[in-house]
Amino acid sequence: MGVIPCYRADCDNIMCDRRGSEGNLCWECFDELVQRGPDVNIQDFMDTPRRPQEDKIDSYEYWNARFPLWDDRQQKGPGRLI
Ligand SMILES: [Zn+2]
Repeated sequence: MGVIPCYRADCDNIMCDRRGSEGNLCWECFDELVQRGPDVNIQDFMDTPRRPQEDKIDSYEYWNARFPLWDDRQQKGPGRLI
């Protein structure tokens, strides 16, 4: 399989397996498109930069801190419950 760059703004994926009227789309952008639903304006979507990867990590750490895993909390949480 050759190099097929994603047509979305700021997306540097080069392994696209989807091809639509607006160009090639990688699976990550496709995944985001699916989450946005069928009403999204595809041209706006293609012009909008991809969600930065860091956002997902920040979000995970934020919520992970507020809802820590039960096991984790028992081991090193601030207040032991037992
Ligand atoms: Zn992409």
